[in-house]
Amino acid sequence: MKNTTKKKKEKKLLQVMKIATDQCSDGIVITNAKVQEIKAKIIYTNEAFCKMTGYTYTELVGKTLSKLHGSKTDPKVLAQRRAALSSGHSFNGKLIKYRKNGSEFYNECDAAPVFDSNGEITNYIYIMKDVTERVNFEEKKEEIISVVSHEIKTPLTAINGFVEILKKKLAENSPEKNRKYLSIIKTEVDRLTGLTGELLETTRIKNRGVKPVKKLTDLDEIIRQVIKNVKITASGHKISRRGRIGILVNCDKNRIKQVITNLLTNAIQYSPEAEQVLVHITRQNNHAIVSVQDYGVGIPREKQKNIFEHYYRTADNNLAVSTGLGLYISAEIIRSHGGDIWVESAEGKGSIFSFSLPVS
Ligand code: ADP
Repeated sequence: MKNTTKKKKEKKLLQVMKIATDQCSDGIVITNAKVQEIKAKIIYTNEAFCKMTGYTYTELVGKTLSKLHGSKTDPKVLAQRRAALSSGHSFNGKLIKYRKNGSEFYNECDAAPVFDSNGEITNYIYIMKDVTERVNFEEKKEEIISVVSHEIKTPLTAINGFVEILKKKLAENSPEKNRKYLSIIKTEVDRLTGLTGELLETTRIKNRGVKPVKKLTDLDEIIRQVIKNVKITASGHKISRRGRIGILVNCDKNRIKQVITNLLTNAIQYSPEAEQVLVHITRQNNHAIVSVQDYGVGIPREKQKNIFEHYYRTADNNLAVSTGLGLYISAEIIRSHGGDIWVESAEGKGSIFSFSLPVS
């Protein structure tokens, strides 16, 4: 008697759960898990997933998810998913999949294993989103940015060249005022060139990643050179170097210079009331660690985790014209070297941006 009541209750619960998942706008797929993830059979799916793929419930149940795979479905991402789920971890990734009519769609998938009371994996659950529109929009956006940046860059290069010529011609016998105006034009052109460069570089990195050209490099010397260059435009701050590592590091010299320059100019920009900026260099086991420390506005704790994402800016800083691209580019450069980048910061007290590079 007790058993039948329990079964009735379970049946009722299953019905309610089916109604709930059918109301859901994301696709939901549940598979068994006694076999390799790739061979796991679908035991349940909701209406949204049927709509997304064009298959009916009965066409999907009993089949594997590979029914939706095709020539552009990335085997590397599939292998990552398999490895994560089979080892009891969750997974998030994007894959191109194919509908029943053969058309492609971008599928973002959040997947997780389900465990029984003995800790054995009994099922896998997949939450599926069709993100085709979002991906197409992103691709279009990148293309527009790329074209516009190129269009702006060409006239800027010409203006820059003529300003240099005029500066030389006016150097000796021109009134002080004219030279000042030219300097202002030069500064603004440099700023615009920097901005378009960052936009172009972001698009390039997103499409192709960073490909560092590594050579054994004297990191102490790089830091010395960058500090010397940044000092030219940073009259209000004293920049000092602390420490040296005294060994060569296998890295792309120009890329690492770019990262340190970015961290230093940020440190100056976001510490308008302070005088001191420090660049520390140390060695910890198999890594060289470079840190740029300022005593400026700092970054609220909740914003620190997003700071290396592209186009991210902490909202209430009006200190500079900013794109939120510099740190994103820096992070991609450091990661392409097998290193890491992080920030420690306290609001109103200052920030320490650090990166590590492997040393052999
Ligand atoms: P940008 O400075 O062009 O906006 P970044 O990617 O270099 O781009 O920086 C992203 C955001 O991080 C900045 O807009 C700023 O809000 C914050 N930030 C970066 N460096 C510092 C720093 N040293 N102190 C405080 N805030 C910083």
